[in-house]
Amino acid sequence: MIAYYTDRYVLPLPPGHRFPMEKYARLRRRVERELPLVRLAVPQPASDAELARAHDAQYVRRAAGGGLSAEETRAIGFPWSPQMVERSRRSAGATLGACRAALQELVAVNLAGGTHHAHRDRGAGFCVFNDAAVAARGMQAEGLARRVAVIDCDVHQGDGTAAILEGDDRVFTLSLHGAKNFPFRKVRGDLDVELADGTGDAEYLAALDRALAALFRRFAPQLAIYLAGADPYSGDRLGRLALSKAGLARRDRMVLETCAERGVPVALAMAGGYAEDIDDTVDIHFNTVAAACRTWARLAAGRPAIARGPRP
Ligand SMILES: [Zn+2]
Repeated sequence: MIAYYTDRYVLPLPPGHRFPMEKYARLRRRVERELPLVRLAVPQPASDAELARAHDAQYVRRAAGGGLSAEETRAIGFPWSPQMVERSRRSAGATLGACRAALQELVAVNLAGGTHHAHRDRGAGFCVFNDAAVAARGMQAEGLARRVAVIDCDVHQGDGTAAILEGDDRVFTLSLHGAKNFPFRKVRGDLDVELADGTGDAEYLAALDRALAALFRRFAPQLAIYLAGADPYSGDRLGRLALSKAGLARRDRMVLETCAERGVPVALAMAGGYAEDIDDTVDIHFNTVAAACRTWARLAAGRPAIARGPRP
């Protein structure tokens, strides 16, 4: 299974910044050590034209060239730097690459991504460019998938994704998130499931089961982009929910299996994770990648060889 990594593109953060940038390198190293079936790859950066399929071209130019206002930069939460732009381009490129690979091999991963608070003309909440929206629009533009579902299980609502893709009946946006959590002004997607503070495994998984059933009743995707946020975890500093690691692993299996049963390829992005102990976040992301790899291996074994291999 292919997994795109971007941890060599690190953006400089002031000491004490609460974004756990280190989780990406730790995750990649664990994948390297423990999942021999994973092929690690460096993604191409998303081009201005690819980004402009989901973003305002002016915004792309200003974000890329250092032309954001102090207020816009504050909303993103990272100081502007050329490295920030490069990292954001690579992360969007990684979800684009994972989508293309998933359409060939049914499952593929971006070891970062899930920057779902980025809107058409502004960034927010550690998100500069919206990788899922860029990738959904990219697959449509490249003629690889017409109908795309975004399954967003990060604990925060995918407001940017919903806003960018609003009114596009070829993309279905599902978000399961904490009702009382950031963003405090939610943007309505195709299906939003709001969860109370302290929601645990059983209640969460029942809600996800119902939401996936509703998604597939209403929509027939040719590709799913799954944001497997680690932040619904009980030990997350920003999560407010109470899922266990085992519950999160069951969540991943539920999404992967539901898509596999219907023959829908899945591209995964890691999205948020802010546990007290960074290794808990890495553990949860690692479990997601391991589950994806098991699904990939099972499906690859049942597919004719001709369907595999890179696209020409
Ligand atoms: Zn989040």
